[in-house]
Amino acid sequence: MKTLRDELKGSRLFRKLRHGVGRAVADFGLIEAGDRLAVAVSGGKDSYTMLLLLDELRRRAPVAFEIEAITVDSGYRGFRTDIIEKFVTEQGIRCHVERTSHFDIISEKRRPGSSYCSICARLKRGVLYGAAARLGCNKLALGHHSDDFIETLLLNQFFVGSLKAMSACMLADNGVTTVIRPLVYTTEADIISFSREAALPVVCCCCPVCGKADVQRKRMKKLLNELEKDIPHIRNSMLKALSNVHPRHLLDGRLVAAPPGGAACGSLTGAAGE
Ligand code: SF4
Repeated sequence: MKTLRDELKGSRLFRKLRHGVGRAVADFGLIEAGDRLAVAVSGGKDSYTMLLLLDELRRRAPVAFEIEAITVDSGYRGFRTDIIEKFVTEQGIRCHVERTSHFDIISEKRRPGSSYCSICARLKRGVLYGAAARLGCNKLALGHHSDDFIETLLLNQFFVGSLKAMSACMLADNGVTTVIRPLVYTTEADIISFSREAALPVVCCCCPVCGKADVQRKRMKKLLNELEKDIPHIRNSMLKALSNVHPRHLLDGRLVAAPPGGAACGSLTGAAGE
């Protein structure tokens, strides 16, 4: 019987995605010899795709590294962790399901009107860090794709007043785990097509706000889709901008080094674009 891996060998899309992850690994030094990667698998299209790509890379890479899948069960009734476990195990990867009572904690602690997702995501991230450490994994791979990076950049500019997106590789706040995002060059559109092509067994998280959350992010997506009609390369350009920062042409005094023998120029008279 043909396995999914056999089928993927003939897939041009899979090769394209594999190339993108390989480029990200090379550009940001995401994986080193001897690494043990904890791969966060939620049962969604992004994390399944990332898991398959990292496993493929593991088989081909010149350096040896290991991967373990971790799924956090937040306790939302109906969340089919059995489907995730079966799929991951069928790929020959160990799957660790972390059972939690997050749903009860959120129901008790959440203030009326406050965001469900922020507390849920924070609790989940804590469990992922803990599980990664327990399993001896030095890195945690998260399935954010290039659209997530761009949308986050816009969200922070529009609603937070901050010029900030995400990092492809950074030490987490716990000071122990390095968070990596191997899908930084992978578009959501390609992931959707791949998910269909490979018939990935996507499962719903079954949380109370599933499909209704992240209204502002959906607005950013819609805005980008609109703009893309006139500016076809807008997404590429915005992603490129994240690795082409000119601190002297921003307004954050912390980034501007003082010239030798004098104070940094605080003039507001310079013409735009200089
Ligand atoms: S969509 Fe649901 S599962 Fe996802 S972070 Fe929000 S509350 Fe949690």
